[in-house]
Amino acid sequence: MSNTGSASFLRELNPNRVEATKREALLENPGFGRVFTDHMVTIRYSEGRGWYDAKVVAHGPFSFDPATLVLHYAQEIFEGMKAYRLPDGGAALFRPDANARRFRNSAERLAMPALPEPLFVDSVRELVRVDREWIPRTDGSALYLRPFMIATEAVLGMKPSPDYLYCVVATPVGSYFKGGASAVTLWVSENFTRAAPGGTGDAKCGGNYAASLAAQAEAIREGCDQVVFLDAVERRWVEELGGMNVFFVFADGSIQTPPLTGTILPGITRASLITLARDLGLTVREEPYAIDQWQADAQRGKLVEAFACGTAAVVTPIGKVKGRTHEFTIGDGNLGLVTARLKSALLDIQNGRAPDHYGWLDRLF
Ligand SMILES: *Cc1c(COP(=O)(O)O)cnc(C)c1O
Repeated sequence: MSNTGSASFLRELNPNRVEATKREALLENPGFGRVFTDHMVTIRYSEGRGWYDAKVVAHGPFSFDPATLVLHYAQEIFEGMKAYRLPDGGAALFRPDANARRFRNSAERLAMPALPEPLFVDSVRELVRVDREWIPRTDGSALYLRPFMIATEAVLGMKPSPDYLYCVVATPVGSYFKGGASAVTLWVSENFTRAAPGGTGDAKCGGNYAASLAAQAEAIREGCDQVVFLDAVERRWVEELGGMNVFFVFADGSIQTPPLTGTILPGITRASLITLARDLGLTVREEPYAIDQWQADAQRGKLVEAFACGTAAVVTPIGKVKGRTHEFTIGDGNLGLVTARLKSALLDIQNGRAPDHYGWLDRLF
């Protein structure tokens, strides 16, 4: 299969699958990322040989030499996407081609080999088909897919690895936040930034998350749910949350989100909401927005809603913003009308309740 893309996956099926009754019980209330399906996909890469050994195997531990490169220099990238249950019992992925493209871009930034986009999409389809019984049926839940790639050469040399392991695991998920649809409170981080120009802010790599954990811990200590990061240069422009993009909704009905200038992760949810909002007749601006302006606009009633968005958290209203020099409530602090409308427009397409005019669904069965 080398570099052509489309592969046949050798199936070494799990002889010890979770029993149906136990699986159904787990699917009742899966939480987020705690329960895993019976299988995973793995593909190997070696310099000179390309991609090889694509297979579906039982979900289980890997064994690595302690010198394995990823453990030391964090040469790792990942993706996050969902398979949705459709009303007729079938299932679909949402824009998997966009995840494949972003995975390739992340690989390039981390000096890793590009996994051919069709191979990425096939690997995810293959896992969902094998573990189809694990796609939950309850409203608001889905099967979350986590493709990732790690550097596997066992040598402490500071260089790109010649060998890699690509893997996809799957986990049934309910709501990302414990409160479900209720609004979150953000902490404006002044001590930490997430991404600098020229850095890895627009690549989906584990290192970005490791670097955001201290800021997230600070947010929790301050009684907030999530961090909102400002730009690293002027410490003024609102960029995004640790793992979600951000949108602002104004009283005149327009909406705004920070532009993709290299320090923000290009969310597929973000891109989809921009399209949906425009088709609903809303004016959408991709323009920088300063934290002081956000506070002033919220206090004057010029800004009436704000929300965070991403595959895991879907669309989550922002109720309050706090920081050392900021404190303000947005609208009445709850889910607003425009946020609710955009959220259901997106969810209705993803769950097959509304026509998919954009060709975003990739039907699996
Ligand atoms: C994954 C991610 C997002 C959301 O991207 P989606 O494609 O919408 O899931 C936003 N910000 C960061 C930092 C992320 O890692």
